[in-house]
Amino acid sequence: MSPQSNQEGPEGGVEAELAALSLALQHTLARRAARGQDQMARVDRAPTVPTAPPSQSEPAAHGATHQRPPAAESGGHKPVAASAPAPMTKAAPPPVHAGDGHLKGLAEKAAGAPSLEALRACVADCTACGLASTRTQTVFGEGGGARRILFLGEAPGEEEDRTGRPIEGPAGSLLDDIITKGMGLTRDDVHIANVIKCRPPGSRDPLPEEKTQCAAWLERQIELLDPIVIIPLGRHAAGHLLGVDAPLGRLRGKIHEHHGRKVVPTFHPAYLLRSPQEKRRAWEDIQLAMSVAGLPSKGS
Ligand code: SF4
Repeated sequence: MSPQSNQEGPEGGVEAELAALSLALQHTLARRAARGQDQMARVDRAPTVPTAPPSQSEPAAHGATHQRPPAAESGGHKPVAASAPAPMTKAAPPPVHAGDGHLKGLAEKAAGAPSLEALRACVADCTACGLASTRTQTVFGEGGGARRILFLGEAPGEEEDRTGRPIEGPAGSLLDDIITKGMGLTRDDVHIANVIKCRPPGSRDPLPEEKTQCAAWLERQIELLDPIVIIPLGRHAAGHLLGVDAPLGRLRGKIHEHHGRKVVPTFHPAYLLRSPQEKRRAWEDIQLAMSVAGLPSKGS
């Protein structure tokens, strides 16, 4: 007799009940196991939520993470690719650039100025670059320029910003000496101006975009003055006019051209005050410019 047959009778009925329960339990466990596998399979098929590496966590701080497409769209099993940060263009402020149209508008306005005084008024109203918000006033230039000689500095300094006159102070006094004692002219016989018309804060170097913005005013100023010779004072003014970035030592002592006009660069008077040993070479440059302008030599 099998052990099972021994469980028959009243006690065998209990055993049979237990066996039935055990069987039902096994079925239940089997169903749960099947459901569990199914859930695991579904979890396995579910979109993977990528973990952004530290470098990609910044967009979340800007509320950008929820805008990312579901990872499943990128294959589900490529979390790194799927966690590519959402575009930052909404959060980043657009760069401020002066477009070609803006520069064209400035050039047209400058070209429409029929005289130096009209151009001066246009420049006084100019807010084309950021220097308009920090200047005291524009520094356009001065001197009738009857001898058709243009001295060109780089930008107004603190003194010029205060007075509205170009190349003031000790450097201005030295330039006066060059014009009067050296060239035998008056300050009104020539014209003195700067590449840009507003003082950069702290008298820093002008930025390239500031020079670009201001170029229309300078070009019209040159057209109206019609100089025979332009004398850029210092490396920055010479470099801007000639479109080169070179030490003054390589530019001075020669005759260059800017739109068909003769250009003779020399040292800025402020530099000559710090380096008086260069005055002789500066005087050679001035004499060269005088010869271009048809002025008699004053000797050295
Ligand atoms: S520096 Fe020139 S372009 Fe800039 S605000 Fe002054 S005048 Fe206008």
